[in-house]
Amino acid sequence: MVLSVFKSGDELFNQGVDLVKRKEYAKARKNFEKTIEKGGRETALARVYVDIIDACLDRDNPMRYSKLAATLAGTGDGFVFGLTEVEPERLARECALLAEKLNVGRMAAGTQAQKEDKGNRLLDIARKYQSQIGNETITLSGIVGLPINTGIKEALYLQALGYESLAAGAVMADPKRAAEFLQNAFSCRKQLGEDGQNVMNLMKAYSKSAKCWICGRPSTGEGVHFLAMSSDISPFMRKSDDDVLQSAPSDFSSIYVCRPCYSSISRRSDEIARQYHERAMQEMRAMEARLQAEIRSMAAQIAIRR
Ligand SMILES: [Zn+2]
Repeated sequence: MVLSVFKSGDELFNQGVDLVKRKEYAKARKNFEKTIEKGGRETALARVYVDIIDACLDRDNPMRYSKLAATLAGTGDGFVFGLTEVEPERLARECALLAEKLNVGRMAAGTQAQKEDKGNRLLDIARKYQSQIGNETITLSGIVGLPINTGIKEALYLQALGYESLAAGAVMADPKRAAEFLQNAFSCRKQLGEDGQNVMNLMKAYSKSAKCWICGRPSTGEGVHFLAMSSDISPFMRKSDDDVLQSAPSDFSSIYVCRPCYSSISRRSDEIARQYHERAMQEMRAMEARLQAEIRSMAAQIAIRR
């Protein structure tokens, strides 16, 4: 009777496999851990199952996939996880790629150099998806519950992100080069079936040139190297045909100003505003002190009359 209460490692393993089919991963994981403790024919596979389940339950963590890739390296034969047939060497490759992709996704991208570095790394992983997975479907995505793509589609997606990151890195120094990167990103987005409108709008802005209304310098890259500043271009001024006038938004409600002029005006007006604020605060404090003094003297007079 005791034997039926204490299950063997193999029995626990088989029960675990059924639990995986029902997607009861946390329970299944306990079974596989017990299988490893007790030993049995399927101990090695139980280790793989535990690592797959850990990836399913924590799928945004790159460490999970690196660990799974290492465990899979020691697994020879194919097996089934849930309803998916797994070819260990192939799944290990997919795990390594996903770990790399998630790690790059977590890279800081604050500075220009970081954005360029991140962009190049994304393009690098895209090439790997293209050459290592190609037209095949990524099995790992189905197992852990990520959107299911082919290697080619994943590569296009990463290329789009890569070129967008390179554009963000280049735009401060070279907006035309940034627009070229966006052209590539746009073509990837189109191939993915997206409309790519955001990329197109940004590309148009980066390619646009204007003359500054204040200093007359030409510049390229709307929103970055020149900006629209609220103004009132009177009908008389609109008749002029000089090229500075051509460089105004079509509704004449603002003028284009280069970044140096814009930032200089903004900073100076901030300083002036701060001075006014401080002066107003000083006057309020002085008035408060005067009122307090008057209240005190009135209170004193009342006290004397009592
Ligand atoms: Zn200017």
